[in-house]
Amino acid sequence: DAVARRVTELVRLVPDYPQPGVLFRDITPLLADARAFADVVAAMASVAGQVDLVAGMEARGFLLAGPVATALGAGLVPVRKAGKLPGPTASATYALEYGEAEIEIHPATITPGARVLVVDDVLATGGTAAATVGLLRSCGADVVGLSFLVELAGLGGRAHLPGLSVDTVLTVD
Ligand code: 5GP
Repeated sequence: DAVARRVTELVRLVPDYPQPGVLFRDITPLLADARAFADVVAAMASVAGQVDLVAGMEARGFLLAGPVATALGAGLVPVRKAGKLPGPTASATYALEYGEAEIEIHPATITPGARVLVVDDVLATGGTAAATVGLLRSCGADVVGLSFLVELAGLGGRAHLPGLSVDTVLTVD
């Protein structure tokens, strides 16, 4: 559709960033285009019905989750890299290609049964998203779905999100 076409045009492909062999999707040209940014936020919000909270992953997920939350009349939960939030925090670790990563949230912001939509810019291997879902659930959230700007389908991220509603504005191989 037209929004997906604009995303294709405005997301810049950067070879060998941040390391050799990686084709990085740079979303800054899209964010800088007022019309495209608004259209993308509307599209990402449209996948969910009534939600209480939108959870966004540091750091690019924040840029989309904030406006998606206000569009849905929901609150925002920042999912941060370890060590950035004052306590008490709840955390989850997950495997990266080399080593592991840790994410944290403030569990006090999740009321039991809160309906939460997870938002990020890119779904790649799905490790970040799966860890986020697990962390939210461990804090009592009802994760109603995930909404991404771009899905890199060849990396198979969806397989790590079984039983969840996963929507993307643009899917590429
Ligand atoms: P995953 O855990 O699914 O492998 O990686 C997803 C996370 O890495 C997301 O938080 C996303 O922001 C980041 N990421 C991975 N690849 C890209 C990329 O090509 N472009 C951008 N903008 N982010 C990426």
